[in-house]
Parts: sequence; structure tokens; C-alpha cells
Amino acid sequence: MTNKEILDKTGNYVAHTYGRFPVAMVEGKGARLWDADGKEYLDFLSGLAVTNLGHCHPAVVEAVRLQAGRLMHVSNFFHIEPQAELARLICENSFADKVFFCNSGAESIEAAIKLTRRYFHDKGRPKSHIISMERSFHGRTMAALSATAKPDIQVGFAPLLESFTYVPFGDINAIRQAITPDTGAILLEPIQGEGGVNLPPDGFLKAVRKLADEKGLLLIFDEVQVGMGRTAKLFAYEHSGVEPDIMTLAKGLGGGLAIGAICATEKVAASFVPGTHASTFGGNPLATAAGVAAIKTTLEDGILENCQKSSAYLFKGLELLKEDFGFIEEIRGEGLIIGMQLSIPGGDIVKSALDSGLLINCTAGNVLRFIPPLTITCVEIDEMLGILKTALENVKKDNR
Ligand SMILES: *Cc1c(COP(=O)(O)O)cnc(C)c1O
Repeated sequence: MTNKEILDKTGNYVAHTYGRFPVAMVEGKGARLWDADGKEYLDFLSGLAVTNLGHCHPAVVEAVRLQAGRLMHVSNFFHIEPQAELARLICENSFADKVFFCNSGAESIEAAIKLTRRYFHDKGRPKSHIISMERSFHGRTMAALSATAKPDIQVGFAPLLESFTYVPFGDINAIRQAITPDTGAILLEPIQGEGGVNLPPDGFLKAVRKLADEKGLLLIFDEVQVGMGRTAKLFAYEHSGVEPDIMTLAKGLGGGLAIGAICATEKVAASFVPGTHASTFGGNPLATAAGVAAIKTTLEDGILENCQKSSAYLFKGLELLKEDFGFIEEIRGEGLIIGMQLSIPGGDIVKSALDSGLLINCTAGNVLRFIPPLTITCVEIDEMLGILKTALENVKKDNR
């Protein structure tokens, strides 16, 4: 089928929830994608920070191929070796003692909210109020949407869960003032992804940890987007010197397959006793086998080192562009999640880049986001910068 044929069929039969690019992707390898008409793209989007090892990484493909031929699903009535192994790898490389597997980021947020409530229930003092951050994104299911401080995506879905208060990201006093006797947790992304690649001010996460300890609150880090090596450490919280009580993971966890997880300390995870939470597909053999291959590759194949090196190179290139274009205000990020803050909307730049075979996206209206695979090379970065420069020049002409 051609791009046009697939686009037409999608239009006819698939719900219109997405503002999709007018292209149908059919094949990928490393940082390259090909559409149905055979056009090649350089991928600085990674399926939204999912294919962190590049498309169809051989280790992930082989793990999936083997597992698919052996056992794909049995339900959590049974023990599953790859599930146990993925949990071990996460725990031995993080603060966590226990992992619960689900299938997506939003589900991991749901689980974190449920675990928080259950934890305080078990302590004999039920608490349901959670403080989350302005410009946050936590997913689209009802509770995750309630946690997400984005009024535009909440329109038409009232009533949401009432138990959330939103405060400015980075404002420790606002968090302090929002605490009530009913507050159980503080929920935040260590670096905000969808909100525009917003970094926490220096010392903020430490101050939040201290405040949570003072007030007996749980601290939940949503690492769905920035976990799994994206920031050149396996988990973004490692940059801050503090650990959360609960961490959510999804996007990059399965090396391209759908999987989510919440990771917690023993103290908190103890409240998830049999019958409290469940998922039919959660931690299934196929997804967890992919996850084992992905995390092992990330830890053993120099992926974090490459992320660090490529990050420095990409930052330098983007900073150089900033000198040439007055509408570029700031380059910010960590590892290979980098945002370019513009003073103009970024949509046309994204379109122009797409026409020239480069995939990037624009988030929060005017922040170009660069989230290439962590395997990206300096040669590929140079190629990207060349295409981006042309796209920026096109927009500059139009804005004259
Ligand atoms: C994408 C994202 C989610 C939601 O994940 P889904 O798999 O789309 O449900 C939650 N939190 C953060 C930080 C995200 O970036």
C-alpha cells in the first residue's frame, strides 16, 4: 500500500484522536525510518522516547523472536521467568525493592495513585490528596488525566478526580502551602517532557524530598519519559542525589514493546498484597523478554556513555544555531532529551523538517524537542543539524 492508501484507510476506520503526520511508516532500523512510498527519515523522535536503542535493535528483536516462538501469554496466575528477571534488573539498578508491571505510562500512574491510597489506608490514616505540577503530563486515563495539569486536554471529561492540587514546577513554597492533612504524595517528573523539557531548579528535588520526609508524604517520580537511559543515567533521579518512594516507568522500558511498571521501596510496596491490584497483560512474557534485552543492552553496550557523548555534541550544534536565529531563546535538557525554546510557534519548522526527511516534534506550542535514539552518532547529528538549519531558514524567510 502507498502512503495515500494507508492514510485514506486510517481516515475511514480509525478514530480521529491524533493529529498525525501525513505519512505511514513501514520499516525502521537504528535511527532510520522508511514510509510506504519508500522515503527515508532520520528519527529524532524515537516513537516518543520509546525506541531508545533505535528501531529493531538486534538484541531486542532476537529476544522477542525467541520468546514469541516459546510462550507469549499465560496471565499472572503463573510465575514468568522474564518478568522476574526484568524486575531483578530494575531493582538491582535502582532504589526500588519491588516492581509491579502494567502496560503503559498512564497505567503506571494509576497504579502509583492506588498504591499511595492503599499505603495510607494500611497505616490507618486514609489520605487521597496528591500534589502535582503545572505543565505536567501523566497520561490520559481518568486518574492520570486528573493528575495532569493541562486544562486543554481535560475539557469535556469532568468530573475528574478531585484529589489533586497543581503547583508551579520548581516552587517548593507552593508545595509546602498546598499540603493539607489529607495529602499523601507529591507527584512530579524529574524533568518535564511534554510540558516543554523543563528542568527542575538546582536543589529543588532535594528540597521536595526533605519536605516529603518532614510531612510523612510519599514522593512519586514519573520517569515514564526520562527513565531508561534517556538522560545518560539509567534513571533521571540519579542526577538529583535523592530517591523517590515510587517511580513510574513505561516508554523506553520495553525497547519498543508496550510495557509499564511502578517501582517502589519495600515499605510502600508492602501494601500491594494479593488482590489489591492486577493486570491481565501486565508483565507478560513477550514484553518483559524485550525489556530484559533492552535494559541489559543499555547497561552493557555503552549506551549511557554514547548518550552522554552525543548529548554534548548535539548541545554544541544547537547552541551554534541559536547564534544565527533570533527566535531561538534557549537550549535546555539533559542527556538526549533536549528542548529548543522558540519565541515563535514550532509547527512549521516540524513540517518543513518532515518534508526534508527529519522527524522532530514540537511540544508545549513552541519548544522543539529532540529525543533521538541513545545510539545516535555524531555523523547522524551533523545530518540532523543540516536539515534543521534549512527548516529554520525557511521559517525565518516566512517571518520577515
Ligand atoms: C507519555 C507519558 C505518560 C503516559 O504514558 P502512556 O503510555 O501514553 O499512557 C505518563 N507520564 C509521562 C511523563 C509521559 O511522558
